[in-house]
Amino acid sequence: MSRTDFLRQQMGLGPIWQPRGEWFADHPALRQTQQQFEEQGDVADAPVTTPLVATADPKRETAASQPSANLAPPVEAATPAPVPPASELDWEALQQAVAACEKCGLCKTRTQTVFGRGNPKARWLLIGEAPGEHEDRQGQPFVGKAGQLLDNLLAATGLDRDTDVYIANVLKCRPPGNRNPTPDEILACEGYLHQQIAHIQPTLILALGRFAVQTLLQTDRPIGQLRGKLHDYRGTPLIATYHPAYLLRTLPDKAKAWQDMVFAKRQFAAISR
Ligand code: SF4
Repeated sequence: MSRTDFLRQQMGLGPIWQPRGEWFADHPALRQTQQQFEEQGDVADAPVTTPLVATADPKRETAASQPSANLAPPVEAATPAPVPPASELDWEALQQAVAACEKCGLCKTRTQTVFGRGNPKARWLLIGEAPGEHEDRQGQPFVGKAGQLLDNLLAATGLDRDTDVYIANVLKCRPPGNRNPTPDEILACEGYLHQQIAHIQPTLILALGRFAVQTLLQTDRPIGQLRGKLHDYRGTPLIATYHPAYLLRTLPDKAKAWQDMVFAKRQFAAISR
């Protein structure tokens, strides 16, 4: 058994996750592509395996100056979120500012802030919701069972959690009892996330769960309507998928999350050409 198959088996994916010819055709992105061609009356030429993709990453000159024939305008353009403060901090100063932050009430109940983990120069940026109990205790995002599931998804996608990605959350402090973040807490904290993204300059953002997606895209639409499309966060392509903690509670959606990872990997390859 290959390492990838082993990881898939560990995630409980079983043989149904083995690549099959028609499996990926059920992804919403491809259904939409097919629908577009049907509307144009050109079904016979529809590129069934060509997903909807966004503009090239403007920060990577090669992609920006040589747009691929497969690249098209972004499907979903978000209303720009508030611009970060002019006084942007360098990476280390930003970490220190977060560690000392008292901008919302969560500073009173946290054990410590959770800034992020991984490679700050990574081309993949994964963004979750907020630290949970284990994260609050260890000072790292995505530890515990949700973290293990995410690590397995990354490994099955061929990504190393320490070198290929950076992982952060919208909130840097744990909401007590793992309740949902409030709008005021998100408003107080999201500036740190925008500055992290500006520093990392990822090629692709994977937003995990409703709070990350809705914060970055400034929308109130549910994940189910947002996944399977390439969105735009200030010029950086963004893909929405489910939060690993949600997947632990809703096993049938694991297969959708895996579809999203495959979709993300294909988009990354197209953008990086
Ligand atoms: S959640 Fe964010 S804004 Fe609130 S205290 Fe923590 S770091 Fe500051």
